[in-house]
Amino acid sequence: MYYDIIVAGGGIAGLTAAVYGKRAGKSVLVIEKEAFGGQITASPLVENYPALGPVSGTELADKLLQGALDAGADIELDEIVSADLGGETKKVKTAFGGEFESGAFIIATGSKHRHLGFPGEEEYSGNGISFCAVCDGAFYKGQDVAVAGGGNTALQEAVYLSEICKSVTLIHRRDSFRGEEKLVGTLKSRGNVRFVMGANIVRAFGEKSLEGIEISAGGVNESLPVKALFVAVGRDPDLNIFAPFLSRSEDGYALSGEDCKTELPGVFVAGDCRKKAVYQLTTAASDGAVAALAAVSYLS
Ligand code: NAP
Repeated sequence: MYYDIIVAGGGIAGLTAAVYGKRAGKSVLVIEKEAFGGQITASPLVENYPALGPVSGTELADKLLQGALDAGADIELDEIVSADLGGETKKVKTAFGGEFESGAFIIATGSKHRHLGFPGEEEYSGNGISFCAVCDGAFYKGQDVAVAGGGNTALQEAVYLSEICKSVTLIHRRDSFRGEEKLVGTLKSRGNVRFVMGANIVRAFGEKSLEGIEISAGGVNESLPVKALFVAVGRDPDLNIFAPFLSRSEDGYALSGEDCKTELPGVFVAGDCRKKAVYQLTTAASDGAVAALAAVSYLS
């Protein structure tokens, strides 16, 4: 099936691109492999998206998807397993056997969770170690848990977990947080949150599931008996099979101009998979609009 524009990735960048593409009169297909809304679906509360007020990540994701559907975009929940973006007609195949072609192609595949690499991280993954507090936090209601990281994700997850868990230990490698002061203040006001700064995780242990972690701070090792550890130490770009078609930065992000154009004619990048200065919902939405309008201009 042929579309004017195919968008790979149904996060805020991809769904915004779909709306702008449709409003310019183009046929648009969005292909998403996991969850429409992307990483925002894992956010307990979004408070800094203009005009929306406090909204849960899933609620925002639903609104984004509905917006793209209302605009008339087609959507596929499927994984792109092969891509040929080099020619004038862009071609992809999906895991469920779909074959799609387009005149322009927008890569908005976002990013994936970064892992820390300590012994036991993979072994207990899904069995005490999680990368999403909203998805798994409820399993540890009333228990002692830990969060690793110092960005907004870690701080937000710690706030969320402090409301349902017995205690939360927040482990961060430096002495100050990268995340917002407002969230730090909220955590400081909670009686069940402990901060362990300048610390690294040495290993995870337990019989069948996680029973604790060993941490090291200032040369002193300590065992923390926690039932869950939520790792929230940032994300890496998820370019996957599109990587061969792109020039990339040293840390793996797709390189483009601020117009979201790549070196390949008709191929654009938007959102967190693109190298840029600020990674926020608002800038991802902005990328989606810019990439779609650049694609429309390319097509005409
Ligand atoms: P981030 O801001 O990059 O923070 C990652 C944290 O993990 C940093 O504190 C970093 O430590 C730590 N870290 C990274 N690698 C590590 C390692 N190998 N060992 C130990 N610690 C490590 O990532 P994020 O929190 O996922 O946020 C990503 C972006 O999304 C940010 O721009 C954030 O503001 C935004 N965000 C927005 C919302 C919202 O509600 N609007 C919610 C969540 C996230 P250092 O500080 O020492 O580098």
